[in-house]
Amino acid sequence: MTISGAAKLAGVAGWPIGHSLSPALHGYWIAEYGLDAAYVPLAIAPEGFADAFKALPKLGFRGLNVTLPHKEAAFRLVDARDDAAEATGAVNTIVFEGVRALGRNTDVFGFAESLREAGVASLASTAVVVLGAGGAARGVVAALFSLGASHVHLVNRTAEKAEALAAHFGARIIVHRWAALPKLLSTAGLLVNTTSLGMVGQPPLEIDLKPMRHGVVADIVYRPLETPLLAQASKQGLKAIDGLEMLIHQARPGFAAWFGVEPTLTASLRGHLVSILEGRR
Ligand code: NAP
Repeated sequence: MTISGAAKLAGVAGWPIGHSLSPALHGYWIAEYGLDAAYVPLAIAPEGFADAFKALPKLGFRGLNVTLPHKEAAFRLVDARDDAAEATGAVNTIVFEGVRALGRNTDVFGFAESLREAGVASLASTAVVVLGAGGAARGVVAALFSLGASHVHLVNRTAEKAEALAAHFGARIIVHRWAALPKLLSTAGLLVNTTSLGMVGQPPLEIDLKPMRHGVVADIVYRPLETPLLAQASKQGLKAIDGLEMLIHQARPGFAAWFGVEPTLTASLRGHLVSILEGRR
């Protein structure tokens, strides 16, 4: 695939960035739709992010995905924010429009969409349990409320971080201790892991899902694709949703805004990314 001097440009900024699947994901769509466009990884150290943010539109970039550790800095730097960015205090997608930068948080859409695709249309009458209170938990919690969850039962190792998240979202978050999990799971219809536990190189997430009699288990960790938590869920007949679904869906709004095509999640795209995750490419 060649590009011309008029190619549309976007990229993903992070530190480090070498592990990011986003260039492969956007590159797949660019090739699939035959676009004159490029999406590149941008390794930007925290102290250089503000300068890069100013320079990129001048270099012709239409926008940017932003990953760790820049999501809060991006929130502060943009000129306007969508509701999801305001709800989470973080920006993961920037659209440069002339001299203005619009900040969005498409993790919220991405996680909600992964649930909708799995048949979860409304959470109005579902008891929801979330593990973790880090950066990703904010997007997940906002997505759960967007699907009608009345409350979220939140469990995190560090109580202060759980309380900070509860303070951000208000009384709809109910904080519990880790020891309360068996009881919470006995009535839960949805469990979401937003901790990094279970990820390659991290300690395992040791939870017994037996008290959970029905429903859905989502794990936003996607390395490995089938985490031990999801394997356990599938084994006992619960629906399992992996983190790759969220990752692909969160990329769709940015791609549409920068390149003018609404991309879709196809089996062949998923297969392409799975082969990269499994080291086959
Ligand atoms: P983060 O801000 O660093 O938060 C990490 C969370 O994991 C915190 O709740 C932390 O608890 C918990 N944790 C870490 N080590 C733990 C341990 N040993 N025992 C108990 N809890 C532990 O990270 P993040 O940005 O939220 O990302 C979390 C995970 O989500 C990562 O694996 C990331 O790759 C994944 N993610 C996936 C997507 C996607 O599109 N699928 C998007 C974003 C993130 P404490 O508060 O107690 O430290």
